Order: sequence, then structure tokens, then C-alpha cells
Amino acid sequence: MDISLTSKTKLYTLLGCPVEHSISPVIQNSIFAAKGLASAYIVLNTPPDKLLHTMTVLKENFGGFNITLPHKQTIMEYLDVVDANARLCGAVNTVRIDHGKLLGFNTDGYGFMQAFSCHQIDIAHKRILLLGAGGAARAAICQLLQQGCQVTIMNRTWEKAKRLEQEFAGKFSGSVTVISSWRELQNRYDCLINTTLVGMYPHTDKSPIDPQYLNRFDIVYDLIYNPDETKLLQEAKRCDCTTMNGFPMLFYQAVEANRIWTDQSLPGPAVRNLYEKLAHYLQKR
Ligand code: NAP
Repeated sequence: MDISLTSKTKLYTLLGCPVEHSISPVIQNSIFAAKGLASAYIVLNTPPDKLLHTMTVLKENFGGFNITLPHKQTIMEYLDVVDANARLCGAVNTVRIDHGKLLGFNTDGYGFMQAFSCHQIDIAHKRILLLGAGGAARAAICQLLQQGCQVTIMNRTWEKAKRLEQEFAGKFSGSVTVISSWRELQNRYDCLINTTLVGMYPHTDKSPIDPQYLNRFDIVYDLIYNPDETKLLQEAKRCDCTTMNGFPMLFYQAVEANRIWTDQSLPGPAVRNLYEKLAHYLQKR
């Protein structure tokens, strides 16, 4: 009998709502297997009114957890310690449970930047148009400003974009401004980044930008990973833009979260091997 789950198995989970379609269990369980650890990762659908209760149960029984939509900011008030990087970007996506204490981290920014490395793109000091002002936008803007980028934010709810601008202005070497209509677009940007939900499964026929504007960008980076190629990326390819999807970010934020939980890193070749396997798995789904 081959029984891999026992009472000694160390447990990890993803808290969010909804979480049913998450592929984080596939990624995290593959990383645990590659490290040879007796650990398992599951998802727990957690509506806002159940978050505190769920965390109390986890504290006694789990090694750590990830947090996704809509809890990345609200969770911060329940944690014992929030690390400097997570405090800077104002969101937590990874919690390590250490002797009953909840320690918060943000690995989204790391994953976001690794995607540029995967495509051998140096994003430092570039001009960026960033669509959206939610949790993912927050992690992305924080990284881009540290790289000296000129970031222009546009969001459906202008006030949320303005709040981000006020929060980040002057904190790093880069600059941040907000626009409220397509008429205010500059003629050229180096990169367009979509951090909105527009185009995500099941609404795959939607794009957050009219294709007539796409020739103003060299690179188009969509943080969505389901589908693999959004309508935005299909249209950007037709305009000869370099395109990037959300899979590298998803993968590398998971690798970093796993390192925080286990105090173990995988060697570079093992990480790349896993990346290829999981990217292939996602394309074939
Ligand atoms: P969030 O905090 O809920 O923010 C959602 C953003 O999308 C907000 O700016 C919202 O605008 C905008 N939005 C939603 N529906 C819209 C619509 N119909 N038209 C225009 N704008 C709309 O979510 P999040 O955590 O930032 O996630 C955002 C996206 O990033 C998701 O697609 C998620 O899958 C992706 N993501 C990917 C990774 C990765 O590892 N690849 C990691 C995190 C997130 P309002 O402010 O007006 O509501």
C-alpha cells in the first residue's frame, strides 16, 4: 500500500473566495515532492466572514498558508508580524506559522519581477501603463517604482488609482501618475501591464484595452494565467508586441512562498525543470 498522507503530513493551504479553480495545489504539491517533503497543499474556500475563524484553526494545525482575493490587505491586521517588503506594498500573500505566531510576507512582487527575467527583459527605468488598482497592481507598482520606472495607472474606479498614487508617490526612485481616460494616453510606452480581471476565464472574449492603442507598446504583460493566452495577448501579438502571461509570476511567487515555509530552496535546474513541466501541464489542460 502506498499511503502518502498520514498524521505526520505537514499541511499548507490557500485561503480565498473563490478558490475552486486555483492551480496553486498543483504547483505547491509539485514543489514539496521535488524537495522530498511529506507535506500537502489544499484550498479552503474562505468568505470574508469566515477568515478569522479559519485562521484560528490553521494556527494549531498548519505550517502556513497563502492568501488570495479578497483578503490580501484585510489579513494584515490579524498577523503577529508583517515583513518590511509586505508592509511596503501593503499586501500579504504568504503566511508562515511559527510556534503559533502568524508571520506575513508578500511573494507576488518577486514573482512579478521573475517574469521579466524569464523573458530576458530589463524593465528598469521604463515607461509603463498599468491597468488596475487592486492587490496585484499594488505588488507590481511597488516593484516597478523600485526599478525607477515611470508608472501611469488607469483603473475603472479612479479613486482607487488615486489612492495608490498618493500612497506610493515619492517613496522610491520611480514616478507614478494616474489617468482617467484613453484620451490622456501618451503616444509611446515601453510596456502595458494588465492587472485587472478583464479577460480572465470564463470571460475570455473580453480585453481591457481597444486594440487600436496596442501599437503604442513594445511589451504587453497580462497577469492572467487562465486562459494561457488572453484576448489581450492575442491582439498584442498581432501588433508585433512581445507578450508575457501570468504563469511565470504564479510559479515564482509559489517557489518563494514554499522557501519561506520550509527554509529550503530547490537548486536552479530543478526549478527550471518544474517550470517547464507545469507550463506544459497548463497548456494541455
Ligand atoms: P483585485 O484586488 O480584486 O483587483 C481587481 C482589479 O480589476 C481592480 O482594479 C478592478 O477595478 C479591476 N476590474 C475588475 N473587473 C473589471 C472590469 N469589468 N472592468 C475593468 N476593471 C475591472 O484582484 P487582484 O488580486 O489584483 O487580481 C487581479 C488580476 O491579477 C486577476 O486576473 C488575477 O488572476 C491576476 N493575478 C495574477 C497573479 C499571478 O501570479 N499571475 C497574482 C495575483 C493576481 P475596480 O478597482 O474598479 O474594482
